[in-house]
Amino acid sequence: MDPGLLRSLSRGQMADGMAEVIKYGLIRDLALLEQVEKKTYDLEWILERCVRIKTAVVSLDEKDSGERMLLNFGHTLGHALEKATGFQTYTHGEAVAVGMAAAAAIGERLGLSAAGTADRVRRLLADYQLPVSAPLSADELLDAVRSDKKRLAGRIYYVLLRQPGEAFLLPMEMDKLDQAVHEVWNHV
Ligand SMILES: [Zn+2]
Repeated sequence: MDPGLLRSLSRGQMADGMAEVIKYGLIRDLALLEQVEKKTYDLEWILERCVRIKTAVVSLDEKDSGERMLLNFGHTLGHALEKATGFQTYTHGEAVAVGMAAAAAIGERLGLSAAGTADRVRRLLADYQLPVSAPLSADELLDAVRSDKKRLAGRIYYVLLRQPGEAFLLPMEMDKLDQAVHEVWNHV
């Protein structure tokens, strides 16, 4: 969070961190998202904004609303991708970018996200040189999701976008997620 340190990072490392900034914009903050799209932001402003969102989401969660899980947007498939590729091929931010692109596509596919959401997400990620797909099969990815989520007894709290700037949780049986991933994975 030290702006001095952040400014010393390479472009690739910055892009990696921007994946999480984009995540905050997508789940909660349209103004942040728009600044990031236009690249007119100031780094300190972004940091403050992200901390505010995290604090708000985490403090709401004291009432056990599950809000904190919104911070996992892009992370269910992102973690699975990291795991399936042995934590070698993708940085965390890159894997989360792929996860966010897939989640946005799944939301549209299920008719739960506003039309155009997935395109906007993909365009923004690509603009920051972040990947939006990965060359492995849906089954390889889903095997990694299953091994990652064994504690939840077959049900996943999947984070989807109602529209850019607004996320919600959808409890999904593993077979339903399996089907949705097959429908969008490598079809975008
Ligand atoms: Zn993360």
